[in-house]
Amino acid sequence: MTEHAHTDCEKMLGFLSEYIDGGLNPELCQEIEKHLAGCENCRVVLNTTKRTIDLVHAPVEKPDLPEDVRARLFKRLNLDDYLKPK
Ligand SMILES: [Zn+2]
Repeated sequence: MTEHAHTDCEKMLGFLSEYIDGGLNPELCQEIEKHLAGCENCRVVLNTTKRTIDLVHAPVEKPDLPEDVRARLFKRLNLDDYLKPK
């Protein structure tokens, strides 16, 4: 069987989002890092979670970009409509 108990993994994964957020105390962080060093399974989960969080955060950082582009496009279309001779 594996060297560490399976409950260890469940415990670690329960702290994962806090660990990524950096809201965990250093002692717990060390415990998690120690576990991650010896557990490829949890490392994969950590990487996947990190990537998912990055994807979720990415559009939030620039929330007005698509709206701005759309507004400009809309304005231009309206303008073109006004300028278009009938
Ligand atoms: Zn694990």
